Amino acid sequence: MSGVTESPPRAWAEIDFEAMRQNLRIAKQHAGEKEVMVVIKAGAYGHGLIETARAMETEKPKFFGVANAGEARRLYKAGIETTPYILGATLPAEREEIAARGWTPCLCSLEEMVHFNQLGSVKAHLALDTGMGRGGFLPHQVDEALEMLKRCEGIELTGVGSHLPVADEDAEFTKRQFEVFDGLVERIIEELQPDRENFSVHLSNSAGLLNYESRTTNLIRPGLMLYGASPLPEHQEKLQATMTLKTRVSLVHELPKGHGVSYGRTLLDRDTRAAVLGIGYGDGYPRALSDQGTEVLIGGKRCPLLGRVTMDQIIADVTDLERCEPGEEAILFGRELLVSEIAEKAGTIPWEILTQITPRVERRYS
Ligand SMILES: *Cc1c(COP(=O)(O)O)cnc(C)c1O
Repeated sequence: MSGVTESPPRAWAEIDFEAMRQNLRIAKQHAGEKEVMVVIKAGAYGHGLIETARAMETEKPKFFGVANAGEARRLYKAGIETTPYILGATLPAEREEIAARGWTPCLCSLEEMVHFNQLGSVKAHLALDTGMGRGGFLPHQVDEALEMLKRCEGIELTGVGSHLPVADEDAEFTKRQFEVFDGLVERIIEELQPDRENFSVHLSNSAGLLNYESRTTNLIRPGLMLYGASPLPEHQEKLQATMTLKTRVSLVHELPKGHGVSYGRTLLDRDTRAAVLGIGYGDGYPRALSDQGTEVLIGGKRCPLLGRVTMDQIIADVTDLERCEPGEEAILFGRELLVSEIAEKAGTIPWEILTQITPRVERRYS
């Protein structure tokens, strides 16, 4: 079969690492040049775990934020040197590997402390629950946690962190959360007297670092904004989209007024030139975008979707385009049509859209 030219994929995602590095610079500027944990969980929000880690390692992050030991292991096997930080409670079966390979867990319970202590030596952060309810010590449990830590000689506490549940929704709650966190951190530092040079204090995700300040933190944990989507619309302008989701026109055809389009037969209200595009919910382009006034870009112009999103194909109205030919590129989201707009049309959030793009969509890096 040699000599056969393999055809390009029907749907692909173009990833722009220069834009990602630029977004990181914006995050750092906002945070007053603190250190950074680059959050690359969930395959770097669909951008590709290893490729993104390699591209961002040049920026010298202090940690890569991952969801679990499996993601940390993939970084390790790829030779990534930046320490993985596990963003949540660890499973008992993950802990031996975490300790042995020097990854940093956040301690969410006394049980975790006792177990890690038995495994030898580990550098770990203390997780505080200041409102997220997803793990960590509540303010009234901090004394107990510190008592236990003092008895766990195998654990070196190298940081403390907490997480923000409503930094993009509720300023009053979030401000109070910052105060509570800062107060707890000051107490912990006084009590434990850690080596401040190597002690990380962190609270802010993207929304947190864009809009709030802390007196104790020295590390930020941006995720979404690095990928060019702002959780707060007023900051969107500063960021550049890092993923452009593309497909191609496979067919252009004329359909008469009153004809049905796609499953469920959405009826055309005019004679229509329709373009069939090679992407669908099997690629992670949500079916929920059907009949929501969703648009795609063809030749730089916005064209409305017609009818329902199917597994592998969608249909767009190109009646108003001067020309549209099979093979032509179409953009589902990117710089000119933001993933946030698509998320809103689909009734979800940009985090979900990015992480749901399936492996069938080839990632192309520049
Ligand atoms: C995912 C995550 C982040 C990154 O949040 P963004 O809103 O994407 O910036 C930060 N911290 C923790 C604990 C997370 O789980």
